[in-house]
Amino acid sequence: MERGPIPFAGTRMTRLLTRSYAATALAYTASYVLLDWISYVHPLSVSGITPWNPQTGLSFALILLFGIRFIPWLFVAPLAADGIVRGWVLPFGVETLIVLAIGLGYGAATALLLIRGRFDPRLSSRRSLLALLGTALVSTAIVSVAHAAVLVAFGILPTADLLQASMLSFIGDMIGVVVVTPFVLFAFTRRVLPVASWELALVHLVVIASLAIVFGFSDANRFQLFYILFIPVIWTAVRFGLEGVSIALVVTQIGLIAAIQLSNQSMIDVTVFQTLMVVLARTGLAIGMVVSEQQQTNHRLRLQQEALSRVARVGTMGEFAAVLAHELNQPLTAIANFSRLAKRAISQQPPDAAAAAAAADSAIEQVDRAASVVKQLRDFIRLGRSEPSRISVARLVHEALSSCRPELDRLGVAISANIDRTLPDITVDALQIEQVINNLVRNAAEALSQSGRHDGLITIDAEHDRAGKIWIRVRDNGPGFDPDIGQQPITPFTTTKQNGLGLGLSLSRSIVEAHGGKLQIDSGIRGATVSFCVAATRGAQAA
Ligand code: ADP
Repeated sequence: MERGPIPFAGTRMTRLLTRSYAATALAYTASYVLLDWISYVHPLSVSGITPWNPQTGLSFALILLFGIRFIPWLFVAPLAADGIVRGWVLPFGVETLIVLAIGLGYGAATALLLIRGRFDPRLSSRRSLLALLGTALVSTAIVSVAHAAVLVAFGILPTADLLQASMLSFIGDMIGVVVVTPFVLFAFTRRVLPVASWELALVHLVVIASLAIVFGFSDANRFQLFYILFIPVIWTAVRFGLEGVSIALVVTQIGLIAAIQLSNQSMIDVTVFQTLMVVLARTGLAIGMVVSEQQQTNHRLRLQQEALSRVARVGTMGEFAAVLAHELNQPLTAIANFSRLAKRAISQQPPDAAAAAAAADSAIEQVDRAASVVKQLRDFIRLGRSEPSRISVARLVHEALSSCRPELDRLGVAISANIDRTLPDITVDALQIEQVINNLVRNAAEALSQSGRHDGLITIDAEHDRAGKIWIRVRDNGPGFDPDIGQQPITPFTTTKQNGLGLGLSLSRSIVEAHGGKLQIDSGIRGATVSFCVAATRGAQAA
């Protein structure tokens, strides 16, 4: 059986390509030719060797994503590119040997990665990234030397050029893999690429400005000034991890080549720039990896904390049920006995009214006892551990959201909290009110994810009403409440989810009411809104 890459959750495009072998092969070959054409700058005489080969990175990505059954295409694509881009200027034998060196070299390298290295195409472990970079280093070195050796052996290049040709091809292929492969792997396997943000746009502006500085100065300073490019690349790596840095590297590489072309650099200079680019890319990827690993660790920690608190909650409910059953069993048995006594007293001839009344009194006593047991337990759950303290609404919402972020990321739902910092503080049991916000946000996220929307958005805002209450509102652009639920008062155990308990909304309402507030739901074609209010702290001034 073929050992393919580890399965991953892909995009629609990925699914299409995975389904059709021919579509994938064709898309790869066309992209390979296009990249070869774009990157055909500063070739070494007729050899066709250039210091920039992004297409090699594409070949690595093809096999790592779609499996070794695509290896034959690693021979076809270079042959097609040579014909289309360079018109097969090399003799047939030379052409064949070069294509064999490329196909065999990179085919073997990627197959080895997949079969021996249990490579993860999401690059989610340091091991996979290091394996990719190590394999790229060795295989590009071997293929480059083989490539140059064939050209020298057939007299296309003078023997003196062997080292230079090998170096050039090595740097070109290496940079191709280091810059293009991670980018393509992420584009296909990670659903969440860093969303467009001002910060990301700013980083890319800094890249362009840095290139302008590097190439705007006299030739003498260019190589020293190249180090300015480390600033935006490291900045993206630190802020956006591996995914972010893979985008920044592609932008930097394209910008660098464009600048080289515009400023007419010599071939030697191009090679030096590309060598510096290899260093930059490897540094950026290494930092991005460390940052991504840290983010993953935090994410895992948070999921574990959540799982723990879920277990604790379920445990508490189980305990609660056991206590309730035990405490109620006694009064219920007594009520049944007294009711039977009363019935017997009434049905005997003549009826014994005094005995019936006494039994009914005792039954009522037991009913009151049962009611007080329920109340006691309810108070224990609701307010028993309540610790009201003064807190700002913005901080409360922020803390509530930080615990549900991993879940939102997992479901691919965006959230925007817009809380006016000048709102008066509230005095509440912060943990309980955070739990309410958590429940509402989770419900909204689940509704959005079930509806299959790609632009799911949850909005949280807060306002101060004239009666001195603070209203916190959680809105989503999902399908809204099921009519059966939306038009009824909130009742426990009402759920539309297969594994739902139907307790979230009613528990939230109980918590809010225990704080003297109320909770209401609204539903429309634009989605659902759940809002609740609590009193503003007396004396807390709205600025
Ligand atoms: P559960 O989540 O376990 O089902 P809840 O009491 O929290 O229990 O929610 C009850 C029901 O209310 C859900 O099953 C769902 O049908 C509905 N619901 C809650 N929030 C939303 C929302 N934002 N959009 C649509 N339906 C919702």
